[in-house]
Amino acid sequence: MTEPAKGESILRRAACPGCGEPWLRPTQLPGRFRCVYCLRRFELVSQCPNCGEHQTIARMSTTEDMTCQTCGDSMLRPV
Ligand SMILES: [Zn+2]
Ligand SMILES: [Zn+2]
Repeated sequence: MTEPAKGESILRRAACPGCGEPWLRPTQLPGRFRCVYCLRRFELVSQCPNCGEHQTIARMSTTEDMTCQTCGDSMLRPV
């Protein structure tokens, strides 16, 4: 069993596209998140805003699903 690197858990957390802080929290609405740091709201989209690639969103709870599998950009769009 290998211990993850210390910074890895922080990197795996979805950073807020607005302020860059990893303070995104899910709201009552599915696919909606709010940054508790800058208080901006974001929506998880199925099409990458950067490269236009469609993503299959299986689960909305992991940060991997908030990142484009093609270009690595955030799948979060400001609401
Ligand atoms: Zn923020
Ligand atoms: Zn992309």
